[in-house]
Amino acid sequence: MNIVLLGPPGAGKGTQAKVLSKELGLKYLGTGDLLRSLVAQGNPKALEAKSFMDKGELVPDKLMVEIISEQLRDLESGFMLDGFPRTLEQAEILESMLLQLGIQIDRVIYFDLPDSEAEHRLSNRYQCKKCGNIYNTNFGICPQCGGMLERRQDDEPSTIRRRLEVYHAQTTPLLDFYEKRGVLRRVDAQGTVEEVTERIKAVLKDDQN
Ligand code: AMP
Repeated sequence: MNIVLLGPPGAGKGTQAKVLSKELGLKYLGTGDLLRSLVAQGNPKALEAKSFMDKGELVPDKLMVEIISEQLRDLESGFMLDGFPRTLEQAEILESMLLQLGIQIDRVIYFDLPDSEAEHRLSNRYQCKKCGNIYNTNFGICPQCGGMLERRQDDEPSTIRRRLEVYHAQTTPLLDFYEKRGVLRRVDAQGTVEEVTERIKAVLKDDQN
């Protein structure tokens, strides 16, 4: 099963991806996480991308595809993509790459969340520097691994608003793109992590019956 997670920033895609990819035995590729780890390693292309990330803009398609070309080439059936594609051009590139590999996207899970809730969540989000876990309370240190919790640089109020604008302008056209291909499934992203996980599992199970 090959799954793409789609939805606004703050909808919980990363959190769900980590839980579900493990449970379903899928390989996880999260482009935001990947970019941040490449920036931390001083990768020159990722450092170029960072100027866009810090402003809440998308990394331009050409640069983005260059950065993740290796990961895309290595895709094998059984993956969960979080944060890619985010533009129609990226969706088209992904589709043609997968076609060459003889793979298709089976499901696109759309995390439906009002902007007000996304904004609220992003304004109260703390991430562990070490293990990447996300919390909505600042415990100071990570209850999971003891790493330092910090706010993401792009979780500042004006950047949050820009990220939501960019999402509506550049990413929401993908809903139609995947709807036409018959693979889009909508999930209500409000509620607890566990509730949303159960909804996604129910949608995936429904399709198997
Ligand atoms: P995320 O952690 O998914 O919210 O991504 C953080 C930032 O990384 C985004 O705001 C973009 O600047 C950049 N980014 C991640 N994935 C992509 C993508 N597929 N295309 C362009 N920019 C991306």
